[in-house]
Amino acid sequence: MIGKFEMIDMENISAHNLPVYLSNYLKNNHGIIFCFTTSKGVQDNGESDPFNIDYHTGESEENVRKNRETILKKLELKKNRKIYSAKQVHGTNILNINKNMKLESDNIMEEADCLITDLKNIPIMVMGADCNLILMTDIDNKVIAAVHAGWRGTLKELPAKVISYMKINFGSKSKDIFIAFGPSIRKCCYKIDSNILKKFTDKFGLGSFFARKNNDIYLDLVDLNRIQLGKSGISEENIYDCGKCTYCNENFFSYRRNKETGRQAGIAIIR
Ligand SMILES: [Zn+2]
Repeated sequence: MIGKFEMIDMENISAHNLPVYLSNYLKNNHGIIFCFTTSKGVQDNGESDPFNIDYHTGESEENVRKNRETILKKLELKKNRKIYSAKQVHGTNILNINKNMKLESDNIMEEADCLITDLKNIPIMVMGADCNLILMTDIDNKVIAAVHAGWRGTLKELPAKVISYMKINFGSKSKDIFIAFGPSIRKCCYKIDSNILKKFTDKFGLGSFFARKNNDIYLDLVDLNRIQLGKSGISEENIYDCGKCTYCNENFFSYRRNKETGRQAGIAIIR
């Protein structure tokens, strides 16, 4: 289901081929950039390579830096800006980037699975290969959040915690909050074992987010997160889902498919 805004599927947003999902609605109407990258990128010399944006995957720092710079260029942001990411640990820490914070490196050492800010021109990013990358914005108070929530973050209800945080710290109202789900492993491929099944049924009971195929159980993390966000007061029409599965689509990095792999990004910026 497409929400109040539409994202462009795999659109080239500049002369160079960098396929990204980009919300034109938010950009043109509210000055908010929501962007999801894929595993594909094309360098200036025309060479195509895996478009990894994470410093922690064993790839050369130089390549990652180059890829992050490419994103800034495609999004028409100044080259001397940085895209900030924190140390993701499948926890629930929310890092508020405010004007008192000293940002020395784009690779923030603090552990956080959510970055949030109301500062202009500070790109914030979460990274994943199967995990949910969720971008949020309060279009009225001009706040953005980038959330990383795999099964652990979903079980700990991180997305709902971010909504509470926005309401308490920024005075956000549910009706002004828009949310986008990027590529992640989906119900078609996310087979879970009895251990994980028990964790989820203990907390959330049985619901539409489980599917049975043959004798296996599959979990729909996006569906479960949407239900939880609904309980936080976010209406269905304020939520966009790109609907792409990282595991069965070679355009994305998938940890479960490849183990050693890069990461795609979810990036938000207030212009
Ligand atoms: Zn799939």
